[in-house]
Amino acid sequence: MPELPDLEVLRERLAPRLVGQIIAGVRVRRPLIVRNLLGGEMDDRLSNQVFAEVARRGKFLLLRLNGGLTLVVNPMLAGRLRYGPPLPRDRARDALILSLGNGQELRYHDAKDMGKVYLTKDLEQVPTYAGLGPEADDPAVTLDIFAERLRRHPGEIKTALLSQRFLAGIGNAYADEILWRTGLYPFRRVNSLSAAEVAALFTAMREALAEAISILRERVGEETDVEVRDFMSVHGKAGQPCPRCGSPISEVTRERRATHFCRTCQPGLLVGRG
Ligand SMILES: [Zn+2]
Repeated sequence: MPELPDLEVLRERLAPRLVGQIIAGVRVRRPLIVRNLLGGEMDDRLSNQVFAEVARRGKFLLLRLNGGLTLVVNPMLAGRLRYGPPLPRDRARDALILSLGNGQELRYHDAKDMGKVYLTKDLEQVPTYAGLGPEADDPAVTLDIFAERLRRHPGEIKTALLSQRFLAGIGNAYADEILWRTGLYPFRRVNSLSAAEVAALFTAMREALAEAISILRERVGEETDVEVRDFMSVHGKAGQPCPRCGSPISEVTRERRATHFCRTCQPGLLVGRG
């Protein structure tokens, strides 16, 4: 799932390629995924619009058009945006294809059909957008603000990190990385954390996101639809040795979400919700 670092680097890659380009052709292949919140035909709304800005908010990518409309991409688990020369043939899960004035195309593909692309004039119409908290890497979010917001999410620490109302941009992969860096058991409850642990969590969050962005800037090439995750310490590494202590990395699956962590570096007891 693309998260803050992935989408930030995608934004950097796409902005110079898209801004100023005119949309010459529109094909909606999967209308359940591509939602026109304005009514009318998507084709009519998008044709001859020019990309004005590529922005990001949390786990949404915002493709702003010069007429005041925005294409809001929410990739969820598996949505990918590909910019490049037109493909010789469509793939089964290609949902939206925009042909650009420069002969290239922008293609949204979603192997899981879980993401969405919205066309809107008003971002507040996009589901879950209005409730987003501040960006997880926003310099205006100080330790005090972080701690104060965290207190409003009294459940397990990992659940709090995943809440987009707490802070926007962190998903399953970076939550695992942040907790491993901090040495915190993912299922501990927020109200059991000391002030020092909250401070360590805040620092680890900032470092994990900043380091990932710089790694991805190096690693993501011209192909914008490939997810780079191999540099991670624990996420996706179940059974492999912990880079810090060598113990095998554990996996716990709850509510269809896998959590990867080190039982030695992140000690704790799995207790029931209550
Ligand atoms: Zn370890």
